[in-house]
Amino acid sequence: MRVLVIGSGAREHALVLAVAGDPAVTALACAPGNAGTTAVAEQLGVELAEPEAVAALAKEWKADLVVVGPEVPLVAGVADAVREAGIACFGPSAAAARIEGSKAFAKDVMAAAKVPTARSEVVDTPARLDAALQRFGPTWVVKDDGLAAGKGVVVTEDVEVARKHALMLLDGGHPVLLESFLDGPEASLFCFVDGRTVVPMLPAQDFKRVGDGDTGPNTGGMGAYAPLPWAPADLVDDVVARVVQPVVDELADRGCPFSGLLYAGLALTSEGPQVIEFNCRFGDPETQVVLALLRTSLATVLNATATGKLAELPPLEWSGGAAVTVVIAADGYPGKPRTGDVITGGEVEGVLHAGTRRRDDGAVISAGGRVLSVVGTGKTLKAARKHAYETVERVHLAGSHHRTDIALRAANGEVSAPA
Ligand code: AMP
Repeated sequence: MRVLVIGSGAREHALVLAVAGDPAVTALACAPGNAGTTAVAEQLGVELAEPEAVAALAKEWKADLVVVGPEVPLVAGVADAVREAGIACFGPSAAAARIEGSKAFAKDVMAAAKVPTARSEVVDTPARLDAALQRFGPTWVVKDDGLAAGKGVVVTEDVEVARKHALMLLDGGHPVLLESFLDGPEASLFCFVDGRTVVPMLPAQDFKRVGDGDTGPNTGGMGAYAPLPWAPADLVDDVVARVVQPVVDELADRGCPFSGLLYAGLALTSEGPQVIEFNCRFGDPETQVVLALLRTSLATVLNATATGKLAELPPLEWSGGAAVTVVIAADGYPGKPRTGDVITGGEVEGVLHAGTRRRDDGAVISAGGRVLSVVGTGKTLKAARKHAYETVERVHLAGSHHRTDIALRAANGEVSAPA
């Protein structure tokens, strides 16, 4: 099987590595890739949000399976174009990807499927904002209704901060979504979905805020761990039954069946799991930890998903340990990141590349906000943390920053699910 992975983050590096050793995979390429993926996969150039360009590349390279990592190409219709070219694709159609691409669509699907989620209102003009703000908060949750790479959300106790963020979004022509605040620890559940059949992975937790102690602005994600030692034993079954399967069935009934990876972002509240958001693809950085623990052949599962054969697969197998990933970000991130700095010490197992590029002289340099994602594994969460942070210390990137408390509270037994 010739596998082409689309994307260039640490998520795609993790996907490429997980697929690379598989005897079923005869050739592997990544487009556009990064300095890490080029070590294991052929690097191809492509404009990843252009459906026809990706489909043409997949045809020319004779791909048997295309795996689309990021949301932007999926929302743009890349999976549709690849399938129209007669090639199997892991990733939903543009119609199904609206579950992530439009928060209003996601809310509508959830309401129809009776899936628990925050109360919300769309505001599209400044004139309606103040009255709407009064119907929410404190705490206020203000979101960009479209795709915002995890950075369009402000959660605040201060109504002025909420108003300012909403006006900034409206000014830029983006409708705003106001939501009720969901209180409780967060969990991410990834599910393989082939239209109707749902196969869940292990639950994970990510860390969205830039600073230790969950301070500072939201980012694309600064770290993650899996599994969740504090989660109730029936969490996954419960979320599949109450959240994922009803949404999958609703999408199929609407004529836009979901095929690919459906990611449920949840708050575990005292009233049970509630949906914060759906994503239509693997999450970054949770993918890095979940794949580190998967024992089943990923290539087989991706292919079964893309070809509608998930029901025929045996249950997924897991290593039984824990994994932690710590993101090393460039100076300035999540604002404008400084790029072009040389990275040293990164040639170690567990160091996944995101915003990196190889310079003509061979040096690996930073080329984006989130630069590396360092993964540690161990029998326990404590051991996995130690492993990850020991590796982080070996990497050098001038001006970089990372969180020092990824998985700390969970490893110390300080996180608990509401009764
Ligand atoms: P999103 O981009 O929707 O994933 O939101 C980013 C982050 O904002 C989430 O991971 C949560 O930490 C937080 N968040 C979003 N919506 C809510 C909500 N309704 N209640 C509490 N926190 C939220």
